[in-house]
Amino acid sequence: MIEMPAGPMQLGLDDGELASCVACGLCLPHCPTFRVTGEEGLSPRGRIDAMRGVQWRGADADAEFVHFMETCVQCRGCEPACPSGVPFGRLMEGTRAALATAKRTAPRWQRLALAVLGHPRLLRAGSTVLALAQRLHAVPRRLGVPPLPIRRPPAVRGTGDDVWLFTGCVMDAWLRPTHHATAALVEMAGATYAVPDARAACCGALHVHAGLEEGARRLARRVLASMPGDAPVLVNSAGCGAMLKDYGHLLDTPESVQFSARVRDIHEWLAGRLDRLPQPGRRADPVIVQDPCHLRHVQRAHEPVRAVVGHVADVVELDDDGLCCGAGGAYAAQQPELASAIRDRKLAAIERARRRSGATTVVSANPGCALHLAAAGVDVRHPVDLVADALSGVGRVSPREPGSGRR
Ligand code: SF4
Ligand code: SF4
Repeated sequence: MIEMPAGPMQLGLDDGELASCVACGLCLPHCPTFRVTGEEGLSPRGRIDAMRGVQWRGADADAEFVHFMETCVQCRGCEPACPSGVPFGRLMEGTRAALATAKRTAPRWQRLALAVLGHPRLLRAGSTVLALAQRLHAVPRRLGVPPLPIRRPPAVRGTGDDVWLFTGCVMDAWLRPTHHATAALVEMAGATYAVPDARAACCGALHVHAGLEEGARRLARRVLASMPGDAPVLVNSAGCGAMLKDYGHLLDTPESVQFSARVRDIHEWLAGRLDRLPQPGRRADPVIVQDPCHLRHVQRAHEPVRAVVGHVADVVELDDDGLCCGAGGAYAAQQPELASAIRDRKLAAIERARRRSGATTVVSANPGCALHLAAAGVDVRHPVDLVADALSGVGRVSPREPGSGRR
């Protein structure tokens, strides 16, 4: 362990992890905030140097420091690019936790908004009010909120106990038809499924992003208790899946480590069972695949999406090496200008892919990315929606909100 002098505010980061950056800069082209601003302070290397300044050199965690940290999308695109294996996500989560504990970030309104996520009825009621407000044009466009459903289909009901289906908070309130499509594909693959009770209301990912780790731990314990046994836990939201797979680290108990080992992204699980799915009557039109950061950089499970989508349609790749789209959980609402500038790069990559292939639909396995891109007018769907539609017309039994457009 490297000995460093104590600063006025201890971030509590692991000194060895903080020291592991050799400042080579190879991560810079993979950082969306550096790509759109060119500012060193808004790069992984610059942020690590700022963390060292506070933890080792006694620098003040001033407004500039907070700005460097708050503008990070937490996409972790810098991690796979780093030859030294710097665990940037952990460093950023630790820094955010220290700042939130010191009340330098995560204001009261944000804590209240996040608290709602653990209360499904309240979240659904609030979503309906927001949807009505949208119809009355009372929601500012700059917030980038896409059209929300006023009505939603009934909740998915379990059929057995081969696997658990995690339904989550925003995903269930805003994109429930995707849960029906997921359930249909699991059934087609020959498995029964259980749906956890209300204790599994929210995975806690947005709480960790905001530095509210104790709130995340409370939610994680409830999720863990809601899905006992050893059946796989299937997740169709990349951000939630990454969080559930990290419970072992977050809670640091043998039970949480065991639980995390059971978690699978739905595409990981389906990719091993493609031979059990029916063949499509005719192949769907080619689709462009957008990799959510928490699937590609964190779970490193983006290839199975191609296998599953490839069962019904040809896959068209983007040429931007998996650069973030700027959604980042609540990032689009908190940093709208940066989120929009980052998204512009993704839109340009989508346009290049469209010109190359003629494909017009994009698939994305994360609700945040899908909603962020849809808000810019992209025709974006969840991969399981596309595949289930192609195989069985699940879209007909799980109707979308009239006028809400395709997802
Ligand atoms: S985080 Fe890794 S890639 Fe980036 S500057 Fe440090 S050592 Fe180099
Ligand atoms: S997590 Fe993403 S936004 Fe943050 S420093 Fe790494 S690459 Fe940049």
